[in-house]
Amino acid sequence: MTDFPVRIRPEIAALPAYKQGRQAGAEAFKLSSNENPFDPLPGVVEAVSAAGAFNRYPDASSPRLRARLAERYGVADDAVHVAAGSVSILYQLAQATSGPGDEILFSWRSFEAYPGLATVAGARAATVPNDAAGGHDLDAMADAVTDRTRMIIVCSPNNPTGPVVTQDAFDAFLARVPGDVLVVLDEAYAEFVTQPGAVDGRRVVATGHPNVVVLRTFSKAYGLAGLRVGYAVGDPRILSAARTTGIPLSVTAAAEEAALASLDAEDELLERVGVIAQRRDRLAARLREAGWDVPEAQGNFVWLPAGDRALEVAAAFEAQDLIVRPFAGDGVRITVGEEESLDRVVDVAASVAPR
Ligand code: PMP
Repeated sequence: MTDFPVRIRPEIAALPAYKQGRQAGAEAFKLSSNENPFDPLPGVVEAVSAAGAFNRYPDASSPRLRARLAERYGVADDAVHVAAGSVSILYQLAQATSGPGDEILFSWRSFEAYPGLATVAGARAATVPNDAAGGHDLDAMADAVTDRTRMIIVCSPNNPTGPVVTQDAFDAFLARVPGDVLVVLDEAYAEFVTQPGAVDGRRVVATGHPNVVVLRTFSKAYGLAGLRVGYAVGDPRILSAARTTGIPLSVTAAAEEAALASLDAEDELLERVGVIAQRRDRLAARLREAGWDVPEAQGNFVWLPAGDRALEVAAAFEAQDLIVRPFAGDGVRITVGEEESLDRVVDVAASVAPR
């Protein structure tokens, strides 16, 4: 590559590409990307095909979807921003707040996109280790804030380990964070939470914290990962800055219609979420019985703290056509998928359980 003339920013050249969970063949269960195992509802599919006029550009700011979400959160329309997946919004918020010399702070291990979005913004990723239970150590995070911290990401439930941040801990944390630092509450898995006392973005929005942006997605609970719609709720001045950094026209007309139809069918979708949460609790309990120290699982996934054996453990699952997500040297994340996958997951996990 040394004789290639186009200059790439060295920190970008060094970044690993976003690693997607492997696609599964017909026999396999794909449990590697925290997707929703249920097929789309017929009403949602119909809404997509009825979106029509694909020769026309969509309205860039998805006004109907924003208005609908704004109503639910009890905020003005401009306090909602939508984009092609909440990961897009994370990138936009990083660009809007942080640049060279700045720090973006988060707990680690967490969502794999966080280190990369800091680097792309030209900022430094500052990390605080998860606590022993796989959750955020918010006190240590508050201690780690410096003059250079511009954005903090709190992920609840934490991907890939599973625990939530409690509302009390989050409130105490906010009280310690300077008001000019953006706090992003990434709640990609919020709908799966059953633990009382967990932080709730809706309540955070209602309480009114100008430096907090709540991030949610249609990819997980609503099952629209393939259509790409996520949203943020927060101060219009922050969201307008985020929008400015984004690629124009990111949400397609089809995706907007699907999101609106999903909100219409919310009761049915949330019933499915309830089914997945029950499966998750059963699965976590059985994995613990099998000898795994599974942290509190509040998303649609469970975490096996396999440490140095992560790749070996993931390979054992793959050999049984269970595609899971290994994090080398750390653990294995397993999405809660089809009911028929559960026994097989438990059998493999038992066969490679720590002795
Ligand atoms: N945040 C977290 C914590 C995630 O796990 C994910 C998806 N894996 C996202 C954000 C992004 O989701 P999407 O872009 O599909 O909305």
